Amino acid sequence: MAVRDFPPLDPEVFRPVRRVAMLVVHSNPLAEPGSGDAGGMTVYVRQMAYSLAQRGIEVDIFTRRNSPGSETEVMLRPGVRVIQVEAGAPDLNKEQIPAYLPEFSANLLKLVEDSGLVYDVVHSHYWLSGRVAAIVSARWEVPFVHTFHTLGREKNRARRPGDLMEPEFRLDGEARVIADACAIVASTVEERKALIDLYSAHPERIHLIPPGVDHATFRPDDREAAKAALGLAGKKVMLFVGRLQPLKAADIAVEALGHLVRWGRVSLEEVRLLIIGGSSGPSGSGETKRLAQRVEELGLGEAVQFIPAQAHDRLPGYYQAADVCLVPSYTESFGLVALEAQASGVPVVGSAVGGLKAIVRHGQTGFLVSPGASESFAERAWMVLSDPRLSESMGRLAVCSSGDFAWDRSAGELHDLYTAGSRSNDCSPSSMWSGKKPFGSRTIVLKRS
Ligand code: UDP
Repeated sequence: MAVRDFPPLDPEVFRPVRRVAMLVVHSNPLAEPGSGDAGGMTVYVRQMAYSLAQRGIEVDIFTRRNSPGSETEVMLRPGVRVIQVEAGAPDLNKEQIPAYLPEFSANLLKLVEDSGLVYDVVHSHYWLSGRVAAIVSARWEVPFVHTFHTLGREKNRARRPGDLMEPEFRLDGEARVIADACAIVASTVEERKALIDLYSAHPERIHLIPPGVDHATFRPDDREAAKAALGLAGKKVMLFVGRLQPLKAADIAVEALGHLVRWGRVSLEEVRLLIIGGSSGPSGSGETKRLAQRVEELGLGEAVQFIPAQAHDRLPGYYQAADVCLVPSYTESFGLVALEAQASGVPVVGSAVGGLKAIVRHGQTGFLVSPGASESFAERAWMVLSDPRLSESMGRLAVCSSGDFAWDRSAGELHDLYTAGSRSNDCSPSSMWSGKKPFGSRTIVLKRS
């Protein structure tokens, strides 16, 4: 008896996703994260691209050339290419970029058309890229997926003294991206809610896909040996990692240490607070200086060490040496640092905001406290620092719970979303690629099991 076979797939109806154009206009993924415009989004875009490539999808990441003379094409890994597009002077800041989006779009279209490349999906990151995605996806007649990473209205809600208001043109731009995108990827339930409540986004267009963590890189190791490798043998080590700007609130970490010293819990000799990262954004310029001033005011001297932004693959040693990681941000759409710390077996004391509420399990993998409450940060950090059994059990649970997040799994969900968009039931093959919104016509429920 002949073996029953499935009929061949009709290429007119089923178009597997083979090549994706990712757009990250303003934040060049060739830059190392930790200062300037490079942070969690850089890590997200690179890791998603690597994991998609492992699934056989070719990813081209288009970004604005920000250093003269650099190669136009850079192969990051097999299947993942960064392609730099000219638009404006190399050293433009983020606020100047909107004026150059038409130039970026025109140059990108020309570059792709000249090279004969064809993409199945466009995936844009941050609202500036979403504006470009609307143009190029219409021209190429493919759907476009968008991830915001941060939302202007959300940032305005959490604004701190010294922070500039996010401008109207950003808020308008975000609203237009929401109207244009076929599908929006939200990292957390909170982000989904903000998109609906603050921007009236259509719930069916929003798909929940949490970011991941690279467990091969961020894993626990012998803490004492890691401390010794950094010259911190015998010290209690508190860690802050991230771009330095008021919303990230490294000053709260400094103040928390100040409380611990003032309360007589630790001496300046026995403790170190490592602050790793560089200034970021217009309101972040001079942040390192402001922090250093605060350290001086509080008389903390050498107990606080400022370490410039580190290449991503150099961070594991710092996490492994830490007894506790502080993430005091006033707003955090996800919070990769908290996840990397937990994957490294480090309890986290974080603000009860945004993605941190999904990452930190209060009382199990660390503690969640009110943003800005430096005394609560100090008390919770001290609970971890002073109780080796609690610290150990929290560290172990942190590693377990970080297992819920992995880039490969996130990329699998993203791949499903791309594929669903390319064979949406409600769109005929001809309309499917004609700039209509295939993702919007059906609900794809992507849930964690
Ligand atoms: N990071 C880094 N080197 C540094 C500081 C930060 O590689 O010196 C990375 C960090 O490991 C994390 C990302 O930058 O992956 C920051 O992401 P997060 O979501 O915590 O904050 P965001 O930058 O998105 O606000």
